[in-house]
Amino acid sequence: MNSWEAAAVRRLVNTVRCPRCGQAFHADDVGVLDHRPDEWLLDVVCRTCESYGLVLAEIETDTAPIDALEVDEWRRFLRDFDGDLRDLLRA
Ligand SMILES: [Zn+2]
Repeated sequence: MNSWEAAAVRRLVNTVRCPRCGQAFHADDVGVLDHRPDEWLLDVVCRTCESYGLVLAEIETDTAPIDALEVDEWRRFLRDFDGDLRDLLRA
């Protein structure tokens, strides 16, 4: 993870909470699985309730990178967080 990614992850963990238990995520709990210029696939694991999920975050590359993360994408995804989406990765 480069410093740009690390900063983005820090920003995300400050704004997104576990939809199951409300616990904040830690930067160590968020992994960048893959990213294209405008989309990142992230995985998150909650330390408290052990929920697992994937997040597709859209990045607007023409604006300041940290503020460009679409937190609404996280929220939309996390509403449907079902705790076991690992199979999607293998599809
Ligand atoms: Zn949780």
